[in-house]
Amino acid sequence: MRKSLYEAIREGRFVEIAAGEFDALRENGVIVDDDVDEYAVLAGNYDRAVSAESEVYDLTLLPSLDCNLRCWYCFETHVVGSRMDASVREAVFRHVELVCRRDHIKYIRVELFGGEPLLYFREELYPLLRRIKDLAASRDKEASFFFVTNGVCITDEMIPLFAELNAGFQISIDGYREKHNAVKKIPGSDEDVYGRVIRSIHRLAESYGTYINLRINYDDQTLHHIEDVIRDIIDINPQRLGIHLERVWQTARDGGRRYDMSRVLAFIMANGFTVSYMNLHRKHVSCKASNANQAVISFNGDVYKCSGRDFSEKHREGRLEADGRIEWERAKLDRRMGIRTFDNALCRGCNLLPLCCGPCCQKQIDSPGEYERYCQKRLMEISLEDYLIYQFKNEILRRKIYESQHD
Ligand code: SF4
Ligand code: SF4
Ligand code: SF4
Repeated sequence: MRKSLYEAIREGRFVEIAAGEFDALRENGVIVDDDVDEYAVLAGNYDRAVSAESEVYDLTLLPSLDCNLRCWYCFETHVVGSRMDASVREAVFRHVELVCRRDHIKYIRVELFGGEPLLYFREELYPLLRRIKDLAASRDKEASFFFVTNGVCITDEMIPLFAELNAGFQISIDGYREKHNAVKKIPGSDEDVYGRVIRSIHRLAESYGTYINLRINYDDQTLHHIEDVIRDIIDINPQRLGIHLERVWQTARDGGRRYDMSRVLAFIMANGFTVSYMNLHRKHVSCKASNANQAVISFNGDVYKCSGRDFSEKHREGRLEADGRIEWERAKLDRRMGIRTFDNALCRGCNLLPLCCGPCCQKQIDSPGEYERYCQKRLMEISLEDYLIYQFKNEILRRKIYESQHD
């Protein structure tokens, strides 16, 4: 934006703005009419997004609550040897059949989570997902598949199956080789797990038009070594891979060697990769767990809404029946669905509200009224000004990458 235009807006000299520019600024919400109730607009958007009338259905499957690794910070109680048996897989398929009968649903987004979702991929999970994909196509719906995985189980033989599903990925690493191998150890083995995962990421990125969100779990030390990670992925096409930075939540900053987050973000972008940091790009809701059209189905048919707490009886909110219906525990569900996550004085007065939507419903169930504790502004490790500059540069980079796809 030109400085003169910025100053005209700032000082309310709207008559000096050319009509075309004025319309564009208004359409994009930079200039808002005095009589618009912006909070009511946000509340309306939220209510529509979480409503059962939404055209999206979010289904998360937990094919196993076992994992081949034992990260120290894992919040889950692993259920050793757990896997989804044929009767639960059939009930999941019937559940999707019921979803497909709802005309207004256009998109079925299937996320595979766990435990480690790829433990029994070829023999158990893939056939179910293939059936879901074919069913959705036959009912004129679009099904997408997204694996949240540690990447250890990925083999060359799996890649054509992923390609059939046109699957996307979130693969988590704990930083550079030594750090990753210290956290993500295969019990009883000294294998270079980092090397294995980086090789798999390369093979995936080279094989079909997938997208990999490379999540780097970091603590106070990790990001000092970001160059090492970038060196190991620098040859990957940035259309196929972006980076997400997520602090390991148990590691409050302890005064250890501080990194400069702005420089870390700039370094990643300078090397051609887009990067996401903090959840300030939300659309209408803070988490899909608030949506009516959403369920997390575990290997044994237990149903949850939130996938960020251990999958115990305490957090269970329903059961999947053999005919595909979910029998919800009404009181728990009603409590969650009754929370409009930003409807509190702190968030109402916050200019980031449209990008954040407030602390998620689970945090508000766990800690009622403690909005400040989970406020993203409080948890952000750079100034808001630096954050905006980073977001702006990241968007320019994203467009450059996207446009080069069409060259
Ligand atoms: S890879 Fe994921 S599921 Fe497995 S132990 Fe680590 S955090 Fe837990
Ligand atoms: S903890 Fe919150 S953000 Fe995470 S899955 Fe649960 S509701 Fe969503
Ligand atoms: S006050 Fe904090 S939690 Fe609420 S909308 Fe703003 S940044 Fe998000």
